[in-house]
Amino acid sequence: MAEAAFVSCGGATAPQARRREVVVQGKRVKTVDVHAHCAVPAAMALVGRALETEALLMSSTADRIRAMDEQGIDVEALSINPYWYTAERDVASKLIQIQNETLAEICAAQPDRFVAFATVALQHPDLAVEQLEQGVKKYGLRGAGLGGSVDGLELSDPKFHPFWAKAEQLGVLVFIHPLGTAELERTGRLGGNGLLTNTIGNPLETTIALSHLIFEGTLDRFPGLKICAAHGGGYLPSYAARSNAVQTTFPHRMTGTLKKKPTEYLRQLYFDSIVFTPEALRHLAAETGPSQIIMGTDYPFPWTSTSVDHILNTPGLSDADKVAMLGGTAQTLLGIPA
Ligand SMILES: [Zn+2]
Repeated sequence: MAEAAFVSCGGATAPQARRREVVVQGKRVKTVDVHAHCAVPAAMALVGRALETEALLMSSTADRIRAMDEQGIDVEALSINPYWYTAERDVASKLIQIQNETLAEICAAQPDRFVAFATVALQHPDLAVEQLEQGVKKYGLRGAGLGGSVDGLELSDPKFHPFWAKAEQLGVLVFIHPLGTAELERTGRLGGNGLLTNTIGNPLETTIALSHLIFEGTLDRFPGLKICAAHGGGYLPSYAARSNAVQTTFPHRMTGTLKKKPTEYLRQLYFDSIVFTPEALRHLAAETGPSQIIMGTDYPFPWTSTSVDHILNTPGLSDADKVAMLGGTAQTLLGIPA
């Protein structure tokens, strides 16, 4: 609104914020950002959680929409990083109720620009099952967002099997976003310059989470799961073959049998595209298959503002690959009309 209201001295209207329309081979592509953060303060207040940045708020979406328009993002799939994994059951229940209702309202207000992942209190797995089902069926949310661990437990812990079973049954996408590696933070090893708690702590947690889901057999037990890992899956796709090599190097340390080679599971997982260079995206696609990569921005955290161009300008990707990464795959997974 505001940016369109300026009138120049000559009386002509100043140019409106431009909405970039992404085109591949002459055809408009509806682009989807699978990695976009937001916050619901009324829910955060229940556990005294402070807002990290006002840019997370959805009370006014003008700045967010402007950023989306400039970057060529048509739809954001909103998620909220879990901060409630230590909450008692009744608080967690109320918190998630407020949060998912609000997410549904945000999406309903601008259905052509926003969809959202349900939030779930995974520390109470039976509750999380109900919250996922209600989130999808009652509130029209498109899956669930999880952290990379739950109050010290791995996502592969059998305690969470009922949740994975429900996600598989509903056929919805589960977006895994790391919360950092709290255990390392306590030792001070991620202190000092460079925000290592986030810079390497976040992708490290994703690497650990995915490795357990593979090696503990969770992905064998629930083969229909649709999981998207943030930040290109952390470090796992960069060094995936080591997970195969351990099977022959230390076979006596394999405590369970897997149905496939560890690297083959990367071809059934999804990964966002936040890997920064064309070479990294090329390598990710080589390890996972281009069909497994979904565009992400990490908005409002300014890790990148060129997610569209990153995909468009990566050599070796076909036009079909680019269309799939920019939005095609996400449309299918998230039920977004073309
Ligand atoms: Zn993020």
